[in-house]
Amino acid sequence: MRKGSFNLHTIIDKRVLTDSTFVLRMARNGLKFSAGQHIQVGPPNGIHTREYSVYSTPKDDFIEILVREVEDGLVTPALKKLDVDDGVVINDAVGYFSIDKEVAPGRRFLFVASGTGISPFHSFVKTYPEIDYTLLHGVRWAEEAYERDEYNPNRYVACTSRDHKGDFHGRVTDYLAKNPVNPDTLCYLCGNCDMIYDVFDILEKQGVKSTNIFTEVYF
Ligand SMILES: Cc1cc2nc3c(=O)[nH]c(=O)nc-3n(C[C@H](O)[C@H](O)[C@H](O)COP(=O)(O)OP(=O)(O)OC[C@H]3O[C@@H](n4cnc5c(N)ncnc54)[C@H](O)[C@@H]3O)c2cc1C
Repeated sequence: MRKGSFNLHTIIDKRVLTDSTFVLRMARNGLKFSAGQHIQVGPPNGIHTREYSVYSTPKDDFIEILVREVEDGLVTPALKKLDVDDGVVINDAVGYFSIDKEVAPGRRFLFVASGTGISPFHSFVKTYPEIDYTLLHGVRWAEEAYERDEYNPNRYVACTSRDHKGDFHGRVTDYLAKNPVNPDTLCYLCGNCDMIYDVFDILEKQGVKSTNIFTEVYF
């Protein structure tokens, strides 16, 4: 059971997705969270932690995060070196990036992610499999369409800017310019701030009210 704010959780699985990206699965140890929230995670003997959206769902008996190593970063190279049976420190989940279950039925959702910004959307679609969503995933290369088989192929669009092996060649902003959204759509944006600013502008110009646009900025 959890005591205090930071707790040690044992890594029980590690999936390497690309040279720089991996999923860590940890024992849950009673950690409570709702889909879309984030936790602070760090190596067991360090003093530094960073925020990570929870990739798994509240129904799972484990907790997962999707991490991209930042070269010369303080925390991600240390997390990358960890393996099964190592520990990580994790604090309580926080954050307001969430879906209101009361308003979800009958609503259309647009999820726009850059890179590992897909993490909260993975948790959303696994937690609420009945929701009517389109997920735009902006990546450089098709191999960065992390675990795309987890999503309904009719709802997932990999927008690849550097190769032609995704579903759409170009950035998520190019896709949206060619495929305008219905103004009643509830729009969720997650990832780097440049993408979020650009997409926010496009959606507002397409008639989406700012109160229907929700954002989670990673860096
Ligand atoms: C609410 C929230 C949720 C987050 N969730 C995730 C998540 O699910 N998965 C994830 O991988 N990251 C996530 N991040 C980013 C994460 O917290 C760290 O910033 C990132 O892992 C880098 O940590 P670091 O200590 O290795 O690098 P640092 O030493 O902190 O940073 C080095 C530099 O890299 C930049 N940087 C940070 N992240 C990236 C990136 N992804 N790509 C390129 N440059 C970057 C920083 O701005 C900084 O200039 C989230 C951030 C926030 C605020």
